[in-house]
Amino acid sequence: MTTTDLDGLKALVTGGASGIGLATAQLLSDRGADVAVLDLDPGKLSLPLLGFTADLRDDVSVRDAVAAAGEALGGLDILVNNAGIGAAGTVEDNPDEQWHLVFDVNVLGLVRTTRAALPYLRRSAHAAIVNTCSIAATAGLPQRALYSASKGAVLSLTLAMAADHVREGIRVNCVNPGTVDTPWIGRLLDAADDPAAERAALNARQPTGRLVSAPEVAAAIAYLASPAAGSTTGTALAVDGGMAGLRLRPV
Ligand code: NAD
Repeated sequence: MTTTDLDGLKALVTGGASGIGLATAQLLSDRGADVAVLDLDPGKLSLPLLGFTADLRDDVSVRDAVAAAGEALGGLDILVNNAGIGAAGTVEDNPDEQWHLVFDVNVLGLVRTTRAALPYLRRSAHAAIVNTCSIAATAGLPQRALYSASKGAVLSLTLAMAADHVREGIRVNCVNPGTVDTPWIGRLLDAADDPAAERAALNARQPTGRLVSAPEVAAAIAYLASPAAGSTTGTALAVDGGMAGLRLRPV
């Protein structure tokens, strides 16, 4: 069923050229929004959407791209801070440079994009920011110290930003995906000795028996971004197949 609940709204999705961001850009567009994508290489976009090149590590390129998107769309109502990178290992495994890199993209990148988008969002009657966080923010996952810390910061920022901007009519929420079947996971599986066996093991570790799909995360983002969620701000919506909330007995 097609809905048009986002008709007339203007949305910017970071990391929108791949995975969760691409599925989100597609869904927001299907539901009536005018959508622009900010990414390192939006030229590879397979959708007929506006693409803007920026590196979240570079404040000038982010400001330029957000302004160009805002001008091209004629405003901004929805910002989806989705782009992010991963890192494996314990606190002993990553040098300082890697910590700076992941925080630069996952945390400061979100701050830079939000800063650039706020002047546009303040002019919207339905302003919403949705951040792509992760169950890693709260779940205590092994071998993910750096990534978890960066997503913990995204969760805290979601709450702080929601408080700071609620009186301006800007809602801020996040989604906490579990393990999502995107090119990101594809790259991890490809690096395994036996990708098919690794995929089967990954599926078996999910309470639902399968990975989360990118469109399922996109649906949660689209809901939080929509006027239907007008009284929802400062929340984290899990889209994780039950990973964080369920206490299942080992089978
Ligand atoms: P993906 O690798 O398929 O897509 C990420 C996109 O972000 C890419 O298009 C990439 O070019 C862009 N990007 C990366 N660094 C950038 C930078 N410096 N500037 C601009 N764009 C940049 O990954 P995905 O799985 O779709 O992940 C999207 C988000 O979802 C990330 O924030 C990730 O942490 C989060 N997440 C993913 C999973 C998962 O299992 N896939 C689970 C939880 C959370």
